[in-house]
Amino acid sequence: MSVPLLDLVAQYQTIKDDVLAAMMAVIERQGFVMGPEVGRLEAEIARLSHAKHGIACASGTDALLLPLKALDLRPGDEVITTAFTFFATAGTIHNAGGTPVFVDIDPATFNISPQAIEAAITPRTRAIVVVHLFGQMAVMEEIGPMAAARGLPLIEDGAQSIGARRRVDGAWRMSGELGTVGTLSFFPTKNLGAWGDAGLMVTQNDALAERLSRLRLHGGSRQYIHEEVGTNSRLDSLQAAVLLAKLPYLPAWNESRRENAARYTAAFSGHSDICPPRVDPANHHIFHQYTVQVPRREELQAHLKAEGIGHAVYYPLALHLQACFAHLGYRRGSLPAAEAATESVLSLPVYPELKPEQQETVIEAVQSFYR
Ligand SMILES: *Cc1c(COP(=O)(O)O)cnc(C)c1O
Repeated sequence: MSVPLLDLVAQYQTIKDDVLAAMMAVIERQGFVMGPEVGRLEAEIARLSHAKHGIACASGTDALLLPLKALDLRPGDEVITTAFTFFATAGTIHNAGGTPVFVDIDPATFNISPQAIEAAITPRTRAIVVVHLFGQMAVMEEIGPMAAARGLPLIEDGAQSIGARRRVDGAWRMSGELGTVGTLSFFPTKNLGAWGDAGLMVTQNDALAERLSRLRLHGGSRQYIHEEVGTNSRLDSLQAAVLLAKLPYLPAWNESRRENAARYTAAFSGHSDICPPRVDPANHHIFHQYTVQVPRREELQAHLKAEGIGHAVYYPLALHLQACFAHLGYRRGSLPAAEAATESVLSLPVYPELKPEQQETVIEAVQSFYR
């Protein structure tokens, strides 16, 4: 039995009627840009994120780029972020005119290390971008006060963590709730995926919400009147309609991912070679990825490929070692925990529609390799 890493067709079969009806409503009305679906989606996602404002935009990348642009960075201004993340986290810092300052991760959770952030702060630091990687949140209760004490904006890259939460001082705090801005991606493979590109920003700050709404519409708050230079990063009404139709399913999908993850972890717990992902007990992890650490990874990958089992390495090269950032002067050994993670991580199928017999096949294939 072959098992894909993700099966969007299986999901489509379960939601087809709802999503097609929602899209048809937009099509019948021929209202493709900034229709009422966009405002409804913004309100729903803001509510989910315990945030006052939601501002939709064209992609998860733009959701990072626009708040970084709003920082008005000047050459030499530094933005601290993790070296172990998807490229967009740092590419947007560069494209907003800043210098990414890469720091190391906590090897247990793969998330940015608060101590490493603290050590990297300089007089040129202008902001911090944390990533809630694979679906579990970074240590916000340490990073938030650290940023606030220095007046540094804190951006949460929540592309992989919609609906994730963390217990802080006895209360559940959502991904995007505590930062200056929280970002989301609705790329089709994310836990809530559009049928194309889409993104969204959440914030508690009224003035910032207004500025971000302007920046995504050529910098004008009224048509043809421009306070500053922005861009076109609107979200299509069709994508908003897809997302609104899918949103009611998200809690059950995230729960299925958690159950699948728990079954893997129980199955792998006796194996000395297979290190399951560690969940910080303060976190409600939504398992965008289920990522194990293993020895002889390349051999295991070949074995899984031969068995028809989907898998992927997120991420094979840390960002401080990418050729495009060579001018920043990092070298191998600069960030040892991030580098070690790139050499041992492997993500396995954890999508909600994964059937028990498919999961058994994955477990058996991984276990048999190390037997
Ligand atoms: C997917 C992703 C993004 C970018 O989102 P797009 O919608 O693909 O532009 C940014 N950061 C992280 C961590 C991601 O996983």
